[in-house]
Amino acid sequence: MSNIRVRFPPSPTGFLHLGTARTAIFNWLFARKEKGVFVLRIEDTDPTRSKKEYETAIMEDLLWMGLKWDEGPDIGGSYAPYRQSERFAIYQEYAQALLKENKAYECFCSADYLEKEREEALVRGAIPRYNRRCRELSNAERVGLMEKGIVPAIRIKTPLQGEIIVEDIIRGNLTFAYQDLDDFIIQRSDKTPTYNFAVVIDDYLMKITHVIRGEDHLHGNTPRQIVVYQELGWNTPYFGHLPMVLGKDKSKLSKRHGAMGVHEYREMGYLPQSITNYLALLGWSAGDERELFDLEELIRVFDLSRVGKSPAIFDDEKLRWVNHYHISNLNEKEIFDISLPYLIRTDYQVDKNDNRLRKLISSIKSSLHRLEELPARIRFYFKSPELFSISPSEREVLDGVRKDVSLWKEDFSFDEANNFLNDLSQKLGLPKKGYLPLIRKTLTGEEKGVELNIIISSLGRDKVLERLDAILTNHEKQ
Ligand code: GLU
Repeated sequence: MSNIRVRFPPSPTGFLHLGTARTAIFNWLFARKEKGVFVLRIEDTDPTRSKKEYETAIMEDLLWMGLKWDEGPDIGGSYAPYRQSERFAIYQEYAQALLKENKAYECFCSADYLEKEREEALVRGAIPRYNRRCRELSNAERVGLMEKGIVPAIRIKTPLQGEIIVEDIIRGNLTFAYQDLDDFIIQRSDKTPTYNFAVVIDDYLMKITHVIRGEDHLHGNTPRQIVVYQELGWNTPYFGHLPMVLGKDKSKLSKRHGAMGVHEYREMGYLPQSITNYLALLGWSAGDERELFDLEELIRVFDLSRVGKSPAIFDDEKLRWVNHYHISNLNEKEIFDISLPYLIRTDYQVDKNDNRLRKLISSIKSSLHRLEELPARIRFYFKSPELFSISPSEREVLDGVRKDVSLWKEDFSFDEANNFLNDLSQKLGLPKKGYLPLIRKTLTGEEKGVELNIIISSLGRDKVLERLDAILTNHEKQ
């Protein structure tokens, strides 16, 4: 194992969506490629928005995609606990240490005051920034405010002058003025840590070597986090900011672009290998023409230095294409096992040992883009078609077909079924279009769909006879 350690720190305030899953995949691939460690940390500092059910759902989605973590809240690890809500005492300790060293200070300003300041700045056309009113309070002033019962927040003392350089392994060096960063709060008056503080303490204590996350953190958060590292006298990890994922209209990816939560894609019948494959292409490329990979191949070819700077565009069509490829690549058992839940939820009576069904599904897999398309495609297998009336000449055709079918054996291959269908032409003295559409309608109630030889081979002789008889009997009653 190398000493490379990366983390994926979702906030459990919603389900795992594609953009966040992409960050997880890049971290995981980098860890696996470098034989490092992938840490799952749950950033649940906000008790009103964090929910246990989201935490569970996020973990389920990660595991479904095959992204297992080496350390995390459920399995522990050398740097536990891995839930921020269980680490408040640690953050408080470091906030106190900064206070003691005069690198942070208590701020007694009320929310109302801060809001008024903010509004005034906006009216002046200035960027709202804390005016550092509490930075130089005397001890006596502090005590006075405390005696009034005001509970302070803690702000970090950001240097008043100079610049900070973010060395980003993807984007190169970026410079920020300390002045623009403000003395931001590291601990709120209710003693909870802010994100920019907790994340630094955790990344440091958990020995994270590479912080790989979305570009949306680059301007607002990363320089502030570097201030915390500096004030604590700690070395920073390497930072790598992944390009944003945008919709086709170049706006931030959202539901409007058809992008949804990972579990919704799962429901629709996207395979985990399709999601990981497609998301890996959002901002990274193998450097050649190849775009289709399973997870193992991705580990082999993934290279952080090939992550680009320009935004990635989410393309639903391409995701479907990738899924089509991976579905086509499943073997007979794999596609059968993975299809069962989709058939069962459609209320089909499924027998897990049904070999004909297994063959049928496998034979049409390459026509599927999503597994949710399957139940409608093979409806004929589970449901008899509705009765319909036929003309006397159609009756004659079906009578002829029936006579031939009654001589068949019960089980036969797709090829044998094809031969039967071809031979009927001579037996009935008709061109194929004189009987094939009618047989299809009789067996499925539909005008198009799965190839007819596959249909009759899947149904078997007895069921084919049964459906022919139903139409013929119905005709007699007319
Ligand atoms: N909890 C943060 C988020 O979900 C983590 C960001 C980070 O990687 O530092 O956005």
